Amino acid sequence: MTLTWTHLAGDGAARLGRLHTAHGTVETPVFMPVGTAGTVKAMTADAVRSTGARLILGNTYHLMLRPGADRVAQLGGLHRMMDWPGPILTDSGGFQVMSLAALRTLDADGVTFRSHIDGSAHRLTPEISVEIQRKLDATITMAFDECTPFPATEDDTRKSMELSMRWAARSRAAFQPRPGYGLFGINQGGVFPELRARSAEALEKIGFEGYAIGGLAVGEGQETMLSVLDGVVPLLPGDKPRYLMGVGTPDDILQAVARGIDMFDCVIPTRAGRTARAYTSRGVFNLRNARFAAEDRALDEDCPCPLCARHSRAYLHHLFRCEEMLGPMLLTWHNIQYYQDLMAGIRAAIAAGRLAAHSDAVRARWAEGDQ
Ligand SMILES: [Zn+2]
Repeated sequence: MTLTWTHLAGDGAARLGRLHTAHGTVETPVFMPVGTAGTVKAMTADAVRSTGARLILGNTYHLMLRPGADRVAQLGGLHRMMDWPGPILTDSGGFQVMSLAALRTLDADGVTFRSHIDGSAHRLTPEISVEIQRKLDATITMAFDECTPFPATEDDTRKSMELSMRWAARSRAAFQPRPGYGLFGINQGGVFPELRARSAEALEKIGFEGYAIGGLAVGEGQETMLSVLDGVVPLLPGDKPRYLMGVGTPDDILQAVARGIDMFDCVIPTRAGRTARAYTSRGVFNLRNARFAAEDRALDEDCPCPLCARHSRAYLHHLFRCEEMLGPMLLTWHNIQYYQDLMAGIRAAIAAGRLAAHSDAVRARWAEGDQ
């Protein structure tokens, strides 16, 4: 039996659930830290686990270039290579080919491109992407799709969506079902409700273990993103997990969970951790700011991470000013802890049937700040 998802409780459109995979179970709604090249940057796998994270993301594009899918397979797969026995979702490589690679040539069959690292030539098709993800031993494989540029006309978005739906069917055919593993399809259609609806219908006809929503958080703004979710989420199968790709800020997550999204990934907490931006229960702070130079208190008194338990804001400010690598390490840990605690709070609130009140209280604390 492939990967399954159980609906445990509902609160409005929000859902509490459990993913059952070959590599363990995961409570949803869930946030996946991004482990781009076989590592969640600046974190040991133990540290990632200690935050409560149970599902992480790996990037096919980066791993196929270095160290290569065959090398990962030779090293026992991504789980063993990076000491992460839990479930791993890999993207299809399509998004990063469009955003990072040089000299891309798209055709009906796939995309040919040059590595942004050394200029070497590579090709991705639905079949090749699914095969690479199998070699990586991804628990959740993503269908290969074309990431529609934003903004795009309705006509260009339709052509791109239709290409992605043909590739979704080819990804399904190429995927080898294994117990506890699964393949997710990706809904496309930009900001056009009718295209999103046609994409949802096409994907359901093919049939997947989960349904992702792609092509959002690419510059359209939160209001537009949420209106797309309002239109398309009710059209996705109710008994399968729903994954909003590349989202987002803590507020994006609160809003999307309320609309029925179960899974998220985003580079925000890790990238911010390397650039002195702290996500806290009292809002977002830049630790380079001089106001923190003498503050001998915890970054976030509600947070159990080692940074908040043992160090002062002033120390973290000092580490970033001196460009010590411990600064990004500690703040990445904290930011991931904050995101995991945000999700744990969301899950508890759904179980108690009080997500709306909980979300209002979380937002009120952000607005209050820490003065
Ligand atoms: Zn902390």
